[in-house]
Amino acid sequence: MSTIKILGSRKRIALVAHDHKKADLLEWAMHNITVLARHELFATGTTGKLLEEALDRPVKKLLSGPLGGDQQIGAMIANGEIDMMFFFWDPMEAQPHDSDVKALLRLCVAWNIPMACDRATADFIMTSPFMHEEYESTIPDYDGYLNRKIKADE
Ligand code: PGA
Repeated sequence: MSTIKILGSRKRIALVAHDHKKADLLEWAMHNITVLARHELFATGTTGKLLEEALDRPVKKLLSGPLGGDQQIGAMIANGEIDMMFFFWDPMEAQPHDSDVKALLRLCVAWNIPMACDRATADFIMTSPFMHEEYESTIPDYDGYLNRKIKADE
């Protein structure tokens, strides 16, 4: 049986952008400054520093992405501490922490976290009525996986 998790009207939002996408994310954030003001912001180190300066408000900064920040956000998602993510990743440049990026994107799907990886999706999410209301998020049922039979002697 799946579980329902209530996302409050004040969302805990993770923001991440790769270097060549930081200007896009900042421009988008400035455009949405009023809506973002109603929510709690978390970000990887460099993205967070730039957002704090641009939005003139506190952002909870984790480590820089390649130094573990993506994994920290992933851990927060697994712990139920992040409600949604805006991650402008760069499709045109290999990243030293590609495996961390992939792991983070995977956890968003595993925990049914709304995620935007480009401006258009980000715009659709930001204009959703759910941004200002509670939302009943359905968490997949992992009981079957957790209770699977493991033969210890294999
Ligand atoms: P940064 O990390 O915000 O510290 O640059 C972003 C990323 O995950 O690459």
